[in-house]
Amino acid sequence: MKIILLGPPGSGKGTVSERLEKDCGFFHLSAGELLREEVAKKTTIGKEIQSYINKGELAPSKFVVELVKLEVRKKDNYILDGFPRSLEQAKQIEGLKVDAVVLMDVSEEVVIERFAGRRICEKSGHGYHIKYLPPKKAGICDVDGSKLVQRADDKPEVIKKRFVVYHKETQPLINYYEKKKLLHRVDASKKPEDVYNEVKKALKLKNKKR
Ligand code: ADP
Ligand code: AMP
Repeated sequence: MKIILLGPPGSGKGTVSERLEKDCGFFHLSAGELLREEVAKKTTIGKEIQSYINKGELAPSKFVVELVKLEVRKKDNYILDGFPRSLEQAKQIEGLKVDAVVLMDVSEEVVIERFAGRRICEKSGHGYHIKYLPPKKAGICDVDGSKLVQRADDKPEVIKKRFVVYHKETQPLINYYEKKKLLHRVDASKKPEDVYNEVKKALKLKNKKR
């Protein structure tokens, strides 16, 4: 199954994707994480991408679309988290089959307080929240024991810009996928467990056999 997770910054796309990966065996592709990995490599492209991320703007689609396509080729079960993020990107992947699009529906007021507490694993990018989804040991990733850090773009002025970009570039995708009858709306303002269960119900997913 091929799924797109759509929603404003901080709506919980990464959190839900990580659990679906663990429980249902999906390949989780976070466009933001993919770009942060490119930045960490300090390549020429990485340096260019960094300037967009730091400003809260979208990186040029030519980089993102190519990177995503490379990652998902030959894969049957994946979640695209944070991609596509504009009509331009959506049109460029019309050749990829999409089975469902989940809209993580939540207001800016609700998610704004999630950013101050967001922490990610500096090595693998796994996400936490100091209050809502704390790691077992403060400051340490449960999965690989690496240090948890704040994202450089989780600063109030950059967050503000990311919301502006979301409304202008990404929100039109709601209508686009609604017209294609692929859209499932989920109330993402609830507790993490409830949001997760709602997504699973909307997609009629079952846990993989262990
Ligand atoms: P996105 O990938 O959409 O930007 P994240 O999954 O990184 O969002 O979630 C943003 C922050 O909010 C993280 O710190 C995460 O742990 C936390 N979080 C995710 N879902 C919820 C929720 N339902 N309620 C409260 N906090 C949440
Ligand atoms: P995220 O991790 O989803 O919050 O994304 C972090 C940042 O990465 C965004 O603010 C953008 O600068 C960049 N980014 C993520 N996904 C995309 C995308 N699909 N297209 C362009 N830029 C992106």
